[in-house]
Amino acid sequence: MTLLEVNDLTVNFYTEEGVVTAVDDLSYRIESGETFGVVGESGAGKSVTALSLMRLIESPGRIESGEILFRGEDLLEMSDSEIRDVRGNEIAMIFQDAQTALNPVYSVGDQIAEAIRHHLDYGDGEARERTVKLLDRVGIPDAESRYDDYPHEFSGGMQQRAVIAMALSCDPDLLIADEPTTALDVTTEAKILDEIQDLAEEFDAAIQLITHDLGVVAKICERVMVMYAGRPVEKASVEDLYYDPKHPYTVGLMSSIPRIGDERDRLQTIPGTMPDLVDVPPGCSFHPRCPYAEESCARKEPPLVNPETGKSATIADERAAACLAYTGDLDGELDYEVTVE
Ligand code: SF4
Ligand code: MG
Repeated sequence: MTLLEVNDLTVNFYTEEGVVTAVDDLSYRIESGETFGVVGESGAGKSVTALSLMRLIESPGRIESGEILFRGEDLLEMSDSEIRDVRGNEIAMIFQDAQTALNPVYSVGDQIAEAIRHHLDYGDGEARERTVKLLDRVGIPDAESRYDDYPHEFSGGMQQRAVIAMALSCDPDLLIADEPTTALDVTTEAKILDEIQDLAEEFDAAIQLITHDLGVVAKICERVMVMYAGRPVEKASVEDLYYDPKHPYTVGLMSSIPRIGDERDRLQTIPGTMPDLVDVPPGCSFHPRCPYAEESCARKEPPLVNPETGKSATIADERAAACLAYTGDLDGELDYEVTVE
């Protein structure tokens, strides 16, 4: 069953340098219970997309158009009080920085219990009980006695676990995790990712996982959307994306995944950087960095198409890519080879 359907979402920021389109005509869907990855470098529009789902875009940003259907209801049409009920309750967010997600002046337990009281209408005793259970479930040792600790008394990994407990406290159907492990070391990262996945399964929640790291996606996602400069450039199942990527940007991201035994520098990344969104290159916005770019790439904006048929991709298409190679507008070929160990 489709849980979330985003149709033609466009988000602009009205800055002094001009209008910045942070998310440009974005469509995707998430099925109930699945783990959906959103991948791209910083500035791709991943976080803005997430904040749009929570209706947390603030001035000078504005959701310009589109719909965000959550179980068929458009979040963009809801009143402020309706959206407050959805937020935290049905859609919860795990922010990348646990330190800003936790309030330093309240004990960890009280913050979680407060969310539970507010959303689930629990009494004090019940809220405390549920909080202790959750803290225990996310792997905080001795949860009962840590209830009254303040955030600064927790390690980084434990803070992130507390944030996850808070996100799960009201049993959401969709969990948005924005770079949930970026601030952690590799071992803790692996543990927390496993944990998030187990918990989502246990709580029967879908996950929208936002990351710049395709390695993280490989570990826990089922379907993936790759974004570049505010637009989706490729959508696929994880297997298809790894074994048969269709977009040159995806291929570039893949070669920056470190492999075991790899002597190369960890980040053998794509040359150049994501364009400044005030000044996105014409045509294919990736063309200044693309090894396959031809003259037409600077003129024609590649539509998102089904790469097999070259026809405009719909939200139902499992595979889609935005590159002129699939619309017959490229003279050469994308002659890369993918080796996945
Ligand atoms: Fe590269 Fe051209 Fe395809 Fe863009 S449209 S990804 S520049 S080949
Ligand atoms: Mg971000």
